[in-house]
Amino acid sequence: MAEIERESMEYDVVIVGAGPAGLSAAIRLKQLDAELNVVVLEKGSEVGAHILSGAVLDPSGLDALMPDWKEKGAPVNVPVRDDRFYMLGEGGGIRIPNAAMPPLMSNHGNYIVSMGNVCRWMAEQAEELGVEIFPGMACSELVYGEDGSVKGVVAGEFGLNPDGTPSDAYEPGMELHGKYVFLGEGVRGSLSKEVMAKFDLSEGKEPQKFGLGMKEIWEIDPEKHREGLVMHTMGWPLNSNAGGGSFIYHLDKNQVYVGFVVHLNYENPHLYPYMEFQRFKHHPMVAELLKGGKRVAYGARAISEGGFQSMPKAVAPGVALLGCSVGLVNVPRIKGNHNAMLSGKAAAEAAHAAIKAGRSGDELPDYEKDVRTGEIGKDLWKVRNVKPLWSKFGLTASLAIGGFDMWCNTLFNFSLLGTMHHGKSDADATEPAAKHSEIAYPKPDGKLSFDRLTNVAFSFTNHEESQPAHLTLKDASVPVEVNLAKYAGPSARYCPAGVYEFVEKDGKDAFVINFQNCVHCKTCDIKDPSQNIVWTTPQGGDGPNYPNM
Ligand SMILES: Cc1cc2nc3c(=O)[nH]c(=O)nc-3n(C[C@H](O)[C@H](O)[C@H](O)COP(=O)(O)OP(=O)(O)OC[C@H]3O[C@@H](n4cnc5c(N)ncnc54)[C@H](O)[C@@H]3O)c2cc1C
Ligand code: SF4
Repeated sequence: MAEIERESMEYDVVIVGAGPAGLSAAIRLKQLDAELNVVVLEKGSEVGAHILSGAVLDPSGLDALMPDWKEKGAPVNVPVRDDRFYMLGEGGGIRIPNAAMPPLMSNHGNYIVSMGNVCRWMAEQAEELGVEIFPGMACSELVYGEDGSVKGVVAGEFGLNPDGTPSDAYEPGMELHGKYVFLGEGVRGSLSKEVMAKFDLSEGKEPQKFGLGMKEIWEIDPEKHREGLVMHTMGWPLNSNAGGGSFIYHLDKNQVYVGFVVHLNYENPHLYPYMEFQRFKHHPMVAELLKGGKRVAYGARAISEGGFQSMPKAVAPGVALLGCSVGLVNVPRIKGNHNAMLSGKAAAEAAHAAIKAGRSGDELPDYEKDVRTGEIGKDLWKVRNVKPLWSKFGLTASLAIGGFDMWCNTLFNFSLLGTMHHGKSDADATEPAAKHSEIAYPKPDGKLSFDRLTNVAFSFTNHEESQPAHLTLKDASVPVEVNLAKYAGPSARYCPAGVYEFVEKDGKDAFVINFQNCVHCKTCDIKDPSQNIVWTTPQGGDGPNYPNM
């Protein structure tokens, strides 16, 4: 294809992603200097359309950014009233007393929110301050300056044919240049991945670790609804097959968020995370709650779990990584939104000072320092051994040792364990199918549990079919010749949207990618044992259309 000519626009700061990290950065920049030109680009059809979180919000990030968020009408209205933690067996469960939990695990003072709605509200605040926000604009490429620094992004390319050639309706998109580019793409961002590789930002760090989070919104019988109740469970049905657990959050209007996280370092490629989630809802405690209710939305998203030791360097010339593009989730608390907001704020402050001093296109060392040694670093440091303990010793031992370690870190800022390693990446953790047994999953009953494609319809996902598949293969032969032969084709199970299938064609196995169903969770990019699948951005506006996720 001939070199594409694009118009360009100049900004002070270009921000990719209207999540809590990107929007916090935009708001803070304009709070500091109303004259700065700030643009936010979001691939979802509207702000919030691609946001999926639990979410119990620790308001510390919002407090730091906008202390008057209550007066400004933030949709943060359901305080946590009751906080319960259960260890499940197949037929029952044991409640772990709150007093036995390290204080940092308490949800007292937190709120049950829809982060999609929080982001919609943050976008309004940003626009009132003069930030330009463009939803439906996928940033598909980075633009580099002659000195190799990141200078901008390409956004808004539309109308490619399935083979990648321009159609009659082709629009080349624009180059948006900034003195600094912020990548707030969330977990496993495609541009962030490129920046990390180009500038070797993960050198000397532990591999990033991930979980797959799946979530349904249910409307339940008002008699059973307890606004403000937060429940977490571990144990059944995953048991020793994989790490993970569930969350059940009672928000307002008789709605309940029911979610399930499976750590992606599982070894048995027969494991089917989506079916584990469906099976979980048949536990007597959960089934009783949901009986008579209806599922109104479904979605899935990966969550970063590597914590402190996996954080890449967050800056390179001209660019800063924010929020879950760095992996700022506190794993035992399952909380990353507060750190995403704090990181956006810190990056904005560093960029503002740099621009004021006449700088551009260089690194922002003050931001890097803030992430590691400020509030975010302190939050993640205390819990750094929880995930490696879980991976190494399984659930029960890690609860005891991890709990003790968190108590030591909380009380004495000290760990007997030092800083533990994660070891393998999640892709490398996958073992050959021959080493493991198949797992039999019950058929969904259509009342409490649903087949994948029925549920995907409740993510309101849409992709224009006449575009190239955004799920690309480095080598088209690998799915059948390696992944099916050696790992029993795990993509057919780990994808929570049923995008990947192995079918018989002309008497041979063939690999099919139904990219239209993709909910942008990024699990395939993370878990493919051959690291052969590369997630790229489809055209803007495509993907899920989550309501109040
Ligand atoms: C199942 C689950 C439960 C969770 N529960 C909680 C919880 O209870 N409490 C909590 O605090 N945290 C929770 N988290 C973690 C929290 O959601 C993340 O830490 C947080 O979303 C990170 O914010 P972010 O702004 O970095 O990224 P995101 O919220 O992921 O936002 C990134 C945005 O960037 C857009 N984007 C990405 N790439 C591009 C591109 N190339 N071009 C244009 N736009 C792009 C995306 O569409 C998205 O809108 C949970 C996460 C999951 C998955
Ligand atoms: S194709 Fe990949 S990113 Fe899309 S839903 Fe499936 S696993 Fe997630």
